[in-house]
Formats: sequence, C-alpha cells, structure tokens
Amino acid sequence: MKNNSSSIKNIEDMSKTDLLEKIEHLNFFIKATMEHAYEWNIDKDELFISEQLSYLLGYDEQFIKPETMRESIHPDHIVSHRNNTVAHFKGHTKRVRMEFQLQDRDNKYRWVAENGISLRDETGRAIRYVGTIRDITGRKAAEDEMLESNARLLAITENASSPITLKDNDGRYVMVNDIFCKNRGVDRAETIGKTVHDIYTSDVAATIITQDKAVLASGGAMQFEINPIESDGQLHTFISERFPVFSANGKLTGVGEINTDITERKKLDAALRASEREMRLLAATDPLTGAKNRRSFFESGNQELARSKRYKRPLSILMMDIDHFKKVNDDFGHAAGDAVLKNLVNACHEMLREQDILGRLGGEEFGIILPEISINTAYLIAERLRIQLMKLEIISEDKTILFTVSIGLGQCEKDTPYLEDALSQADRALYRAKQEGRNRVCQ
Ligand code: GH3
Ligand code: MG
Ligand code: MG
Repeated sequence: MKNNSSSIKNIEDMSKTDLLEKIEHLNFFIKATMEHAYEWNIDKDELFISEQLSYLLGYDEQFIKPETMRESIHPDHIVSHRNNTVAHFKGHTKRVRMEFQLQDRDNKYRWVAENGISLRDETGRAIRYVGTIRDITGRKAAEDEMLESNARLLAITENASSPITLKDNDGRYVMVNDIFCKNRGVDRAETIGKTVHDIYTSDVAATIITQDKAVLASGGAMQFEINPIESDGQLHTFISERFPVFSANGKLTGVGEINTDITERKKLDAALRASEREMRLLAATDPLTGAKNRRSFFESGNQELARSKRYKRPLSILMMDIDHFKKVNDDFGHAAGDAVLKNLVNACHEMLREQDILGRLGGEEFGIILPEISINTAYLIAERLRIQLMKLEIISEDKTILFTVSIGLGQCEKDTPYLEDALSQADRALYRAKQEGRNRVCQ
C-alpha cells in the first residue's frame, strides 16, 4: 500500500464478504495490539471504535456518533482535543498527538495518549481519521507522584537552614539550595554546572575535592570540617556531612552535602573554655599578690613531689616570713603593708624559674617549692632571694619602705612521703632563723 487513495479504491472494489472478512481481520489485529483505536468517517460523521475502546468507555456498540465520544472527554480537555484535531484536519500537523482524560465505564477519568493520522482524498481533504488511544493513567500517576515527591523535597531543601548541595561525578553542582546560595553570595542558576573552584578560594576548594574523593572511595557517608569565608566576609566553620548519591538503578552519580554552621557554637565554646580557665586561675590564686593560694600550692606541690619521687630527683622547700611585718603596718599603714606583699611576690617571681611554685600560706608567710633542686643549691637560692628582697625599696606616700625576710629550708627525700613533712622541717628552720636574729636562712 503505497498511497492512501489507492487503498481507498481497493476497499471500494471489495465484495461485501471480503470486506467483512477484512474488518474482522483488522478487528482482531487491533485487539491483539492491546491498543484502543477508532476510525472516524468524516463524511458519514460516524466513528467506528475498537471493541476494547467500546468496552473501556462503556458503549453498547462499535459504531457511534462523534458527539457520544466527545461526551466521554473530560470537560477541561474538550477544547484542546478539538483544536488539535481541527489543526490536523486543516493540514497543520502531520499527526495528532495529545494527552487528555476520558471517562471510563465506571465514570472514572483515565489519562490517555491519542496518536492519530488521517486519510486524505486527492484534494488533500481529510476523509477518514484513525486514532489509537493508549491508557497512560499509570504513567501519569507515577509522574504526579514524582512531581509530588520533588515538591516535598524542594519544600525541605529550600526551607532548611543548612546549606545543601549535590554534585555530579565530575564535581559539578547539579543542585544547590537557597541558603547555600545566600551564604556563598552566588546566583543559583549560574552555580549549576560550576565546580567548587568557581565559588571557593583555591585552598578551600582543594580541601573539599580531597574530602569528596574520600567519600567516593569509601562509598559511605563521612563528616568533615570546612572553613570558608562566606558572603558576610567572615570566616565560618561548617560541619560538612558528605554522602555518595546513587541513581534509581544503583549507579553512583555524585556527592551530596549537608552543612551545619558551627561558627557561633565554636566561639561560645572558646569563650566558655577561656572563662573556665580564668575561673580556675582565680580559684587558685591569692587575689592580693597573685601568688598561688594555699590549696593550689599544696595541689601543685604534691604533683611535683610525686614526679620527683618517680624520677628519683631532689625537691627543696623554702618557708619565708617577713620580719617584724606588724611594724611595717604600724609605721606605714595597712595599704603600704599590702604593697610590700605584692612587691615581694613580684620580685620572687622574677627571680624564680617557671617550674618553681610560690604560694601565700598565711598573712606574710610564703612557701616556695623548688623541683630538681638539692638542699645545698636551695640554700644558695634562698640567700639570693633574701639579699635581693632586702634591697627592694617600696615607695609609699613619699616614704621608702625596706624590709627583710627569714627563710627556713626543707627537702623531700626518698623517705619523706608527704609535702607537709618537708614543710614542717622548713617551718622549724624558719623558727630557728627568727630565733637567731631574723634576716637569715636556716637549714
Ligand atoms: P616576725 O614575723 O618577725 O616575728 O614579726 P611579725 O610582725 O611579722 O609577726 P607576725 O607574723 O605575728 O605578724 C604578722 C602581721 O602581718 C600581722 C598582720 O597584721 C599582718 N598581716 C597579715 N596579713 C596581712 C595583709 O594581708 N596585709 C597587711 N598589710 N598586713 C597583714
Ligand atoms: Mg613575720
Ligand atoms: Mg608570720
């Protein structure tokens, strides 16, 4: 059958029996394809519809009027259906292709796809039209479900306060959410198809690429930290959850990321740690002089003692008391006395090493722990302290205050298990120093 007009002639030449046989044959043929089909004899204004279509739409017969079928079309689709058909009849389109809804025998609307073509006479006028109709309700439902699920996903990603992105296997962005674009200060449409190198500084981009590679290599979700400068000009810290993304058929298609901005949390943590450190220091420090307080002195002292025992190293202790301090207070006032205490501690800190421990144990009584120092060297250190302090001049209200100290020595030996033992040894030595006339070191 090379052209349409010759086929029409053939039909006209056929005997009725042949024709009926042909129709039966065609009917069977159409039935076998599982497609619904109809033929529209335009001159007769009559439709011949396939058995299945007749059944689907709930008609009693196969020859019906076009209006009958039109009544089955969803009201919303009648106009577009007609326009499509008319355009085709006028020769504007080679084929009719359209999707619309038809009401079935149970009065339920089904989505169908119609594909049709007309036979034309010599003048090109359409005389017959044959349309096949395929039920696409299932596909439409799947499409609707897909659109629904896309809409749900979009609602989540666009309202999320976390920057979210998806990149393909070449590291090109295929999806970025609103907050990501805002944070980075980039345009969404322009970002799609770009790589991290286009929107981050080279060092951050290199870090992200290394991290993405690790995710692709591991095939599982991983957590990283990134520190980009964002559109507010500030350095931010993000916890970046990275995960491989797979297509519906299980093929790896790229890397996804959900970022959590922990900049503020980090700042708070740092401030908290600093204030904790400060509080610990305050709790360990004598407020007047800045020397360790009694509790902290014993805490650090015992740690040093344990260390010196473990490594079998010497450890010496000095007890220092200001001579006739009551007289300093009496002669110059309590504030001047305080100044003496502060200056004494400052001077001692300058002379002592980092690891030495200076504590205010009482009013004008101080303890000094000298790790790694034998009693003989401790004596020399004590003497140096005594002489230096003796030279220390404190100016108070135009008056110069001078003072002296007495120092007693003690040491922790292998058989001295407690700091208190060494301290009371030093205390006894200090008592002797006072007894022997003050301003001296006793052992
Ligand atoms: P010595 O030790 O040489 O025997 O005589 P002293 O005058 O130093 O004797 P004592 O230890 O009895 O006196 C200590 C004085 O130190 C008593 C107290 O008024 C004074 N003092 C204690 N704490 C403070 C302080 O924080 N500031 C001032 N300005 N004075 C203090
Ligand atoms: Mg004293
Ligand atoms: Mg005293």
